[in-house]
Amino acid sequence: MKIVLMGPPGAGKGTQAKLISNMYSIPHISTGDIFRKQISQNTPLGIKAKETIDKGQLAPDDITIHIVEERIELEDCKVGFLLDGFPRTVVQALALESYLQHKSDKLDAVILVEVPRSEILERMTGRRVCLNCGASYHIHFNPTKVEGKCDVCGNQVVQRVDDQDETVKRRLRIYDEQTQPLIRFYEGKKLLHIIDGTLNIKEVSKSICDILGSEVI
Ligand code: ADP
Ligand code: AMP
Repeated sequence: MKIVLMGPPGAGKGTQAKLISNMYSIPHISTGDIFRKQISQNTPLGIKAKETIDKGQLAPDDITIHIVEERIELEDCKVGFLLDGFPRTVVQALALESYLQHKSDKLDAVILVEVPRSEILERMTGRRVCLNCGASYHIHFNPTKVEGKCDVCGNQVVQRVDDQDETVKRRLRIYDEQTQPLIRFYEGKKLLHIIDGTLNIKEVSKSICDILGSEVI
């Protein structure tokens, strides 16, 4: 099963991707998590990407495409994968399509999680993440069991540098300009499914499972 989860920043992609990847035993590949891990480990890629990401801008297409291709080459992706936060530009979508075509393969579904702007800001400013395992929480909607500690791995959860008000607005602008065109792109390929991301976390998961159950398996 090869799935793309799309939606504006803060729509709940990461939250859902973790649940769905556990349910279907497919790896969850979040380009944002990969970049954040590289930044926290001070790798050459992390050092290069940090400034762009902290400012809320997109990393260059060539670097991002390379990271994803390298990741989906790994053995665990033979059963499929769930991409979260990639592709984010038409160039990335075309690269993914041609990479899969080259392997006589294709995506099974693209799921767009829709949440109105009015809710996104509240979600993102209340978001806390674990920089170790990538788990995402919300101070009101999905709090950690022990304050400040990740439920999954026990590491400290923090507010992302790019979740400050002005940076969030910039990221939403970039989403409108660069990522929204992918909706048409995937609609044209009859892969797009739109779900209501304003429901609670369990209900959103159910909507996604309904699509995966009927369309993909
Ligand atoms: P994305 O990966 O799309 O940027 P996240 O999964 O990190 O978004 O979710 C953004 C914030 O919204 C997090 O704080 C998360 O806990 C919270 N959240 C996710 N899904 C829901 C939901 N269905 N209802 C309320 N809050 C949610
Ligand atoms: P995310 O965790 O998906 O919100 O991503 C956090 C940040 O990582 C983004 O604001 C970008 O700076 C960078 N990033 C993640 N995925 C991509 C991508 N597909 N293309 C370019 N930049 C990305």
